[in-house]
Amino acid sequence: MTLFNYKALLIAALIFIPIEHLFALRPGQKIFRKAFFNDLIYALFNSVPTTVGLIAIVALATSTVGELVPDYVGHAVSSQPVWLQLTEIIVIADFGFYGAHRAFHAVPFLWRFHAIHHSIEELDWLAAHRIHPVDLALTKGASFVPLYLLGFSSSAIALFAIIFHAHGLLLHANIKLNIGPFRWLVASPQFHHWHHAHERAAYDKNFAGQLAFIDVLFGTMHLPGDTVPERYGVDDPIPPTYVEQLAYPLLPKSKINEAPATRDA
Ligand SMILES: [Zn+2]
Ligand SMILES: [Zn+2]
Repeated sequence: MTLFNYKALLIAALIFIPIEHLFALRPGQKIFRKAFFNDLIYALFNSVPTTVGLIAIVALATSTVGELVPDYVGHAVSSQPVWLQLTEIIVIADFGFYGAHRAFHAVPFLWRFHAIHHSIEELDWLAAHRIHPVDLALTKGASFVPLYLLGFSSSAIALFAIIFHAHGLLLHANIKLNIGPFRWLVASPQFHHWHHAHERAAYDKNFAGQLAFIDVLFGTMHLPGDTVPERYGVDDPIPPTYVEQLAYPLLPKSKINEAPATRDA
């Protein structure tokens, strides 16, 4: 992890901890809640295996299908103003994210990786980091590979990476935030908290990372009024520590003592 990451984590803590205190969705939830230290391990170290995986995916894609994109496309794309590139990037990347995220829910082998993220029982900004590196590298790959193939400028992609990360922390934060009718357009904490709901009606809904309207488009939106879920989590027998969680998806089913499948239907 680079110094930049530690600084970014410190800045995020300084922003989100006071906001969560002032505008708490669940005022009784403690900063040092259950699994706090495990999620801190994710925040500090998980970017290392994830970045290695993501670089490999981007390198593989650009060296293979990258040849199919003519040079003039990249030139036209990167010569647009950064704000226009950023707007296009957010739309293109989130369609990629939506598809990958939906696959992680639909394919049982992929779900075993993604179940780690859904094992969060107390949502806050720090819990957002609890994502298996295979899950994170592949979903980020689905977001970022099209951007590199189409030739967006590195400054526009870097700006997007910062916005995407900050938005991800906000979506998981223990914050009551009403964005009115924009909630049908942009992903809000309420939108993503429903994605984490341990309630059958909310399973496999709200897949988008940033643009809620993609779920409206594909009929997977679940946003009942101003309500929020009563509880979060899964029935899958997810172990409590980082190393065990890294190994969990790869262990033979007989070693895991599988609970009754609840999310495959
Ligand atoms: Zn999910
Ligand atoms: Zn989440």
